Amino acid sequence: MKIELVKLPYEAGALAPVISKQTIEFHHGKHLQTYVNNLNNLIPGTKFENADLETIVKEADGGIFNNAGQVLNHNLYFTQFSPSGGGKPSGKLAAAIDAAWGSFENFQKEFEAAGAGLFGSGWVWLAKDTDGKLSITKEQNAGNPVTKGLTPVLGFDVWEHSYYLDYQNRRADHLKELWKIVDWEAVNKRY
Ligand code: MN
Repeated sequence: MKIELVKLPYEAGALAPVISKQTIEFHHGKHLQTYVNNLNNLIPGTKFENADLETIVKEADGGIFNNAGQVLNHNLYFTQFSPSGGGKPSGKLAAAIDAAWGSFENFQKEFEAAGAGLFGSGWVWLAKDTDGKLSITKEQNAGNPVTKGLTPVLGFDVWEHSYYLDYQNRRADHLKELWKIVDWEAVNKRY
């Protein structure tokens, strides 16, 4: 199965100033495209040739895991933002966040702290278990909560390539700004 580059549901410059057009063009058009190309070069002739992305991430290791993980991660990442985003989650997701952290504001604080405190490159995820219970997971490099049997609901990329052009070393500031573009309608559907 050929892995395709996910289409952005907005124009490259539409998320500015939270994420600049230049960052989107490099992040989606160069970094993600490279992971997609690498994966398409790695899987032919392996048992993953016709597998879906999530199965590859759950079962592969080495280079196939790294590139498949990054494709899955970025597919979730780029499709959870909107220029008209921001605000708060609603419905069942909002209730589950309140149950786990007491309030949306407390959840935001813990999520930001997890992302800011992750050493090196990786991801911070809001994930749900099979009972719908939520947790925050920190993943190194290409990690995704599916490898722990959890379903990713929201993911912030803390690799420097996601923010360095716009925020330089200020990762925590970048994470705080990202709330302004989260498309909760899209995220609610993952819960
Ligand atoms: Mn990235």
